[in-house]
Amino acid sequence: MAIKLDGKKLSQKIAGQLQQRVTKLKEKGVSPKLAVILIGDDPASHIYVRNKRRMAKKIGIETSDLRLPVATSEEKLLQIIAELNNDVTVHGILVQLPLPPQINEETIIQAIDPLKDVDGFHPFNMGKLFMGAPYAIPCTPNGIMQLLAEYRIPLAGKKVVIVGRSNIVGRPLAALMINHNATVTVAHSYTKNLFELTRRADILVAAVGKAELFSQTAIKSGAVVIDVGINRNAAGKLVGDVDQIKVADIASYLTPVPGGVGPMTIAMLMKQTVDFAERSVK
Ligand code: NAP
Repeated sequence: MAIKLDGKKLSQKIAGQLQQRVTKLKEKGVSPKLAVILIGDDPASHIYVRNKRRMAKKIGIETSDLRLPVATSEEKLLQIIAELNNDVTVHGILVQLPLPPQINEETIIQAIDPLKDVDGFHPFNMGKLFMGAPYAIPCTPNGIMQLLAEYRIPLAGKKVVIVGRSNIVGRPLAALMINHNATVTVAHSYTKNLFELTRRADILVAAVGKAELFSQTAIKSGAVVIDVGINRNAAGKLVGDVDQIKVADIASYLTPVPGGVGPMTIAMLMKQTVDFAERSVK
């Protein structure tokens, strides 16, 4: 039976460590602050933002919430970001994605000061990451790396297969894995014979967004399996990209859904904000 990579438990441990760092910062007169911009009424985005705010409050991170109507223009959003970039009391800026169609995502990502870019999506931060000298790291891949480190899972020389090449998960995770001396293959929708490839992985990361795509036949016995997916199955139940019950029989370690990668993503957002606040006093 696979050992559970418990993201919920680790995220609580990290929250405790961050609380102490925030207390020290406040003693120095610095109150870490995260500005969150949410545009429109996407229900999932509202839930994400609520969860982020809740954890920030628990840790002592101040949040400023800007809720903007779905018809907000790109110009207006750029103006707000410019103000936040210049506000020395704000350490991190997060624009909740996706954005409505009149706003270009790339333009917005590039408008955020890279030194306040808590999501790590700015080309400066992506570039630094791919050069092996990260400044800000995208939260989901960072959370996966922290989980692997917590359970002392070695990466050097391991065959890692990442399925999914998005800018928020697959690509930055590939860079992090390379930086940790793993041998990395990134698969996507054009990959031929996907399961032949995944069956060779010592560590498999499923970041596709297809309910329970990976079952026993896709996994090598004893592999470490990271399930990033968040999907609803036909019965409306929240499931990952991995068939959790079947894969738990043959994997050595497995992240649950929920309670695996999800809570780690939020914990890393908080850590990034505190890192930025600490850098502002150094
Ligand atoms: P995305 O942008 O839609 O990317 C999905 C990737 O999967 C793409 O690279 C796509 O290939 C690839 N793909 C699609 N179908 C495939 C198939 N049949 N075989 C192989 N590859 C296939 O998704 P994302 O934003 O990275 O998110 C992926 C999943 O993770 C979603 O379920 C999302 O909800 C979840 N997620 C969870 C967290 C968390 O905190 N737990 C954070 C972020 C995302 P192409 O590039 O060729 O289209």
